[in-house]
Amino acid sequence: MRLSSSSFVEDARSAGFALAGVTTATPPPQVEALRRWFKAGLHGSMKWMEKHAAQRGDPAAVLEGARSVICVADRYPPPHEEDHSGPAIGRIAGYARGRDYHRVMKRRLHSLCDRWGAQWPEATFRACVDTAPLLERAHAEAAGLGRVGKNTMLIEPGTGSWLLLGEILTTLKIEPTPQKHEEPCGTCTRCIEACPTEALRPWELDANRCIAALTIEQRTPIDPAWHSRMDDWIFGCDECQTVCPHNGDTSRTRQAPFHESQSPRVDHLVLEDVLRWDAKQRQEALAGTSMTRANLSMWKRNACIAVANLPANQCDASLMQAIDMLVEDPAQPPMVREAAMAAKLAHQGEV
Ligand code: SF4
Ligand code: SF4
Repeated sequence: MRLSSSSFVEDARSAGFALAGVTTATPPPQVEALRRWFKAGLHGSMKWMEKHAAQRGDPAAVLEGARSVICVADRYPPPHEEDHSGPAIGRIAGYARGRDYHRVMKRRLHSLCDRWGAQWPEATFRACVDTAPLLERAHAEAAGLGRVGKNTMLIEPGTGSWLLLGEILTTLKIEPTPQKHEEPCGTCTRCIEACPTEALRPWELDANRCIAALTIEQRTPIDPAWHSRMDDWIFGCDECQTVCPHNGDTSRTRQAPFHESQSPRVDHLVLEDVLRWDAKQRQEALAGTSMTRANLSMWKRNACIAVANLPANQCDASLMQAIDMLVEDPAQPPMVREAAMAAKLAHQGEV
């Protein structure tokens, strides 16, 4: 016998999740596309994804005996325009500006597991946010939370795509919630045209080119071919979501709720600060956020690339002195010194 999904959805909504739904714990059909994506090498530097390639997509490999996936989404506030009147800054993707979503979402998911565990002691539950080898977007789509758009993000018409996904796998058999059938994109191709590195084809991302993957996941030097296209992004990139009409400022999106834990803590970072960080300063600046995923060398590399892309009127002597310091410091990894040298050459004779 299947349990009704309604009380699970209601409990998840009461826990502050903007969207919730249930699907069966079977491998989604997108598993095949994922295998092709790996085979074509489109996962770029995210080689760790291959580690669980065989199980990726099978919920039973994450929780033995899993029969249902309860999918949830938190909405985070749409990132606002930056103020460029002060010191030169680097941009951060909207999802990373708040408290570490893994922690804040897991806390609420664990409370739900405890509550349901008390009600069904014979069942097991496992909360996941981003780290388990699951096809989160595919399950969310199957659970009716929205549809994946050409920019590969989950879109809920009326809410948009500023969403973070989480799941609870359970051995309980729960009636699935209905899928959404309306396709969100139609003839629109705005995201594909807006992507600075041409990383998107409809419903397919090339992580070798994506600024988000380059700045957050790639621990080695970034191919200079991408530098000028990275603009001032130093952690992630929102271009393909910003242009999406589903994220427009409408009465519906204005009313779409977001959980208070997703309120921004760090809107942007001052480039000179990042260039001068030591390990302790990085830790202090990023404490409690998901931005600790990039190590100190990656942050400095990203900041150097953003400095190289600055207009001359935003480069002052102090900023270029910080660049010089990295060029000349033999203790810096070659990746950082090379990016610093490129920034120095880009602004030679300007300051
Ligand atoms: S995040 Fe940026 S670089 Fe990556 S696909 Fe979207 S627009 Fe392109
Ligand atoms: S920008 Fe257009 S094509 Fe891209 S995801 Fe949004 S609706 Fe779809």
